[in-house]
Amino acid sequence: MRREREPIPHMKSTFLLVKCPDCGEERILFSNSAKDVGCQGCGKKLVESRGGKAVILAEIKKKLG
Ligand SMILES: [Zn+2]
Repeated sequence: MRREREPIPHMKSTFLLVKCPDCGEERILFSNSAKDVGCQGCGKKLVESRGGKAVILAEIKKKLG
């Protein structure tokens, strides 16, 4: 299996406050999450891990440091 090269080896990671588009539940996520993260309220997927990159599927309210 071939691995894609990662252009930014040390991407700065942050915590994000996101809001679930379905139920409005807010939670804090790690922007570089390596695995899927679901909403604690309704179970909707808020972060999807694609090839080592986290894709945020929820509304980002703000970045925390
Ligand atoms: Zn939810």
